[in-house]
Amino acid sequence: MTGKIHSQVYALDIWLEPAQISFRAYLVKDGKNTMIDTGPPLGSPEKLAEVLKAYDLALKDINFILNTHGHFDHIGGNAPIKKAGNPQIMIHREDASFLEDHNFCFEQFFAPVTKASNPQEDLAKARDGFLQEMGPELKVDRRLEDNDLLAIGDNIELRVIHLPGHTLGSVGYYWEKEGMIFTGDSICGLSTPDGSLPIIYDLEAYKQSIKRLLDIPLNMILGCHPYRGISLPPSAIRMGVGEVKRFLEDSLEAAERITEAVATVKGDKEQPLAEVADQVIARLPASMAFKPIAQLMMPQFTLTTVYNALYRNKG
Ligand SMILES: [Zn+2]
Ligand SMILES: [Zn+2]
Repeated sequence: MTGKIHSQVYALDIWLEPAQISFRAYLVKDGKNTMIDTGPPLGSPEKLAEVLKAYDLALKDINFILNTHGHFDHIGGNAPIKKAGNPQIMIHREDASFLEDHNFCFEQFFAPVTKASNPQEDLAKARDGFLQEMGPELKVDRRLEDNDLLAIGDNIELRVIHLPGHTLGSVGYYWEKEGMIFTGDSICGLSTPDGSLPIIYDLEAYKQSIKRLLDIPLNMILGCHPYRGISLPPSAIRMGVGEVKRFLEDSLEAAERITEAVATVKGDKEQPLAEVADQVIARLPASMAFKPIAQLMMPQFTLTTVYNALYRNKG
């Protein structure tokens, strides 16, 4: 679905060229204009200006930017929008470094898995690629905490629901009155149709986050990529109490199976990470259709999840 989702909520679709994947940001209009995520950096600001124009808006008209987390495909429009006007930029405290300190971010979240995936790789070169991909650093105007209430217009209030797992600072923005939540990649089903594992930095936190959402009244989940379910077709949006519940349960099921599979592989750091990852994939139900590393266009997604599940915090 594109365009209008609700009388005050609109989908903004942006094609993400390098990963060959679609990205969906959201616009909320309520006297003020709020963007929830801003899409990948490549092609911005032109691409972003173009999608906003369909709603008679320019970059300078955006008042609030609510980032669901810090990954590059979600924050790329922050800088051009900030340059064009004066939006208030918000992100959860735990993901603020994705905007403010890209070197730290690389060292903390990307260098370990990059090293493990390919010990021969030139880390300085990988860092340069990462820094380029992330675009300019930006100051966060408001660091968010769980349960913060954000007044983003005449009537709409969104509550910050901290949903760590995909990243440590992933959140959902919950519009309680409508039972609607903007989740970014916080809950990512069986990942996108390419067959990667869902990208999960902290598996235990991720499962708790899904359980938390299962206890909240919801009739719409608005995500950013077309995530698969076990029996649900790929979609960024889940509508209706039944489909929402099934998507959450499928996401939890995938995370639980991944936890079990990881627990049964030895996880010897001497063994190539791709080999360990393929052992994990082989132990997952065939019905989940996760592909081995050699068949993936972007193997780093699966490698990230397996690396963090096996080795993070284990020295
Ligand atoms: Zn992400
Ligand atoms: Zn994403």
